[in-house]
Amino acid sequence: MELKLYDTLTREKRVFAPIDPQYVRMYRCGPTVYDFAHIGNARPDIVFDVLFRLLRHLAKQGVWDGGKGETTVTYVRNITDVDDKINARAAEEYPDLPLNEAIRKVTEKTDRQFHEDVAALGCLPPTVEPRATEHIAEMRMLIERLVQSGNAYVAEDNVLFSVPSMPDYGKLSKRPLDEMIAGARVDVAPYKRDPMDFVLWKPSKPGEPAWPSPAGIAAPGRPGWHIECSAMSWKHLGETFDIHGGGIDLVFPHHENEIAQSRCAFHTPVMANFWMHNGFLQVEGEKMSKSLGNFVTIHDLLADWPGVILRFQMLMTHYRQPMDWTMANTERAVTALDTFRHLTHTANPADGRLAEAVLASLEDDLNTPLAIAELHRLADQARNGDYQAACDLRATCDFFGLDLRAASLQEILKRQHGDIDENKIESLIAARTMARKAKNFAESDRIRDELTAMGVVLKDSKDGTTWELAR
Ligand SMILES: [Zn+2]
Repeated sequence: MELKLYDTLTREKRVFAPIDPQYVRMYRCGPTVYDFAHIGNARPDIVFDVLFRLLRHLAKQGVWDGGKGETTVTYVRNITDVDDKINARAAEEYPDLPLNEAIRKVTEKTDRQFHEDVAALGCLPPTVEPRATEHIAEMRMLIERLVQSGNAYVAEDNVLFSVPSMPDYGKLSKRPLDEMIAGARVDVAPYKRDPMDFVLWKPSKPGEPAWPSPAGIAAPGRPGWHIECSAMSWKHLGETFDIHGGGIDLVFPHHENEIAQSRCAFHTPVMANFWMHNGFLQVEGEKMSKSLGNFVTIHDLLADWPGVILRFQMLMTHYRQPMDWTMANTERAVTALDTFRHLTHTANPADGRLAEAVLASLEDDLNTPLAIAELHRLADQARNGDYQAACDLRATCDFFGLDLRAASLQEILKRQHGDIDENKIESLIAARTMARKAKNFAESDRIRDELTAMGVVLKDSKDGTTWELAR
């Protein structure tokens, strides 16, 4: 099998080969750190983590360098730490602090939270995690180039990208111009030459984060959002690289504008060879929104469920499909992983290999639902006593970043019934055993009913009575 990936730009699934067989380069737009991330934000974290793992596996196999296995894989995921949303949140949350201090508090807190969340979801750290505020010099250089090449212009201390200067602008989203104008929610500032022109740099108000401006502008300013990714991908991956990823909501205008900036600055035919986008996520059939009260944060979900459950649930849907996040699917993920955990309890992952059928599914544009079906097939074999299948199942779960040890149904239930009193349960069971010995069955039944009401299921055997929590 060869790795095939769907490219949003050409609308086709193609064989993936890196530009440089020694060096696979992937960029993905990371979070803007101003608030707890919702579960939809975790989708690209998990999807591109699986792709990162797959690329590293194939690199180690020597798929692109003639069997040497020396290809390196670089995954860049940026942090946007300068943005109007951050400024607004900082002013709201810390009205008494100077703005820059408040911004630091907001970004540090959110940044820490994001890293805790993605680690709990089993995501590997990316190779490089550049921050926008550490790449202002590169952004200025890009802006200077664009002004010199006639693709950007200065107006009232702003620098704007001139969309009409790029004849094939809009190829990624393939939308008609009037739809793009509506989609971009462009404010028709009087200094814009064309309503589609977008901001590369803008002046900062007093107290706002500010840096020396490019293009001969005297007033200090700050970058627009789109230029950040062009600058950071250039710095860490070069002018053209292999894969650029993100959520489908970023196709327009963000990725369209990244392409415009990078291609015009470097005079290249493409910015990235593959553009990959994960689909939308809904919750219980509805669009997530704060006003509907169904805004589910990763943080809240992690309070109730181990990250491994959420990770598995995310992979149950193909990354390009719209996804419905439902409690029913969370329950399915719990059942599947608890079963895998039981079946691989005595399996040694060192005796296992990444299952061929799973690898083949992933090589077909990351078909994770099919890969999961293959995991279930391995589980069936393991259930029938096939030790090798159990080892392969364990090793394949490890490859996916699925830590089965954290997937115990009983542990999950105990965590969700935070008030469970194990001592009380044990003493009730002891009292019931005494009553049974004394043939006082009315009393022993009464105690069992009391335990049932507490959600406790008893299992009697010749060795005594054990208990577990009912689902
Ligand atoms: Zn970006």
